[in-house]
Amino acid sequence: MRKYQAVVAAVLAMTPIIGVPAQSAEAVRPVAAKTWSRLMHTALNGSPEIVKLRAALPAMRTAVITRRIAIGQAIISQSAAQASVTMATSANLKARRAYATATADRKAAKTSIERRRQRAAERQRGTELDKSVVTLRTAQTRLRTTTAKLAAADDAWHAATVAVRNAEQKIAAAGDYDPAAAARAAKLAAQVVTETRATFTTDDTTQVYGITVNKTIAYTVKHMIDDAAKAGVPMSGGGFRTREQQIKLRVTNGCPDIWTAPASSCRVPTAIPGRSLHEIGLAIDMTYGGRTIPNHENVAYQWLAANASRYGFVNLPAEPWHWSITGS
Ligand SMILES: [Zn+2]
Repeated sequence: MRKYQAVVAAVLAMTPIIGVPAQSAEAVRPVAAKTWSRLMHTALNGSPEIVKLRAALPAMRTAVITRRIAIGQAIISQSAAQASVTMATSANLKARRAYATATADRKAAKTSIERRRQRAAERQRGTELDKSVVTLRTAQTRLRTTTAKLAAADDAWHAATVAVRNAEQKIAAAGDYDPAAAARAAKLAAQVVTETRATFTTDDTTQVYGITVNKTIAYTVKHMIDDAAKAGVPMSGGGFRTREQQIKLRVTNGCPDIWTAPASSCRVPTAIPGRSLHEIGLAIDMTYGGRTIPNHENVAYQWLAANASRYGFVNLPAEPWHWSITGS
């Protein structure tokens, strides 16, 4: 015991002291942002009920096959029982006839010796008849049991089949998208922006296909870019930029001044530093074919106009390339 304590003390002495890390980026992300992410996750995967159902479907389909095999086995058992009943019935009939013949022979006996011999034979046939009755009853019981088992197996298969059909219909009707969740997320977007602005640090950003975005939107951005690529519209973009980069952009884009002139007064509309959603990673300037989406006729703009809201993104009308969670 003492030896063990000594070892522990030695190990502790060697262990470098590591400061408790500051709250993780995940922990300080605003509640509204987390809710928004969760809702969009639900939107893009369907309601929790549908997600659960979809996960359960393979096992449900296997159950149908298992139940079908059980029916096959039940049919084999029932057929064997049926054959036993048929055999036992004819054996019983034969035994009844043999007994009747023995009774007639005994009655027809002329001598007492003959009568005694015939009585013994009649008893023998009687015993055989009793046995055949027992055999027949046993076979009939087995037939009833196997018939009931077959009916139960059939019911179970039917129930499993109905369950699969219902689940498939429910999944098909609901689709893999939950618009109600997306609508709830959209209502939260302004609050997400306000809360994110108050707490944002660069730790809150991450990379999605080389685009730096707020972790809040990472999942849905990835989904959107994947789906667009599948639809034949490969896109990329520029997301997060620092305050310094925004200031430089105001200069580059020919804004009358850095801090007061409205975005629309610049050669390329550029938000006043501190107001851009790019500075908190919640906006992306989308590119197509390596170029910023130039106009509303562009194929990438067209795709986004038709689909981006599914992923929680809204366009700023003056800038066909600029998509954010509020459209500002
Ligand atoms: Zn932008």
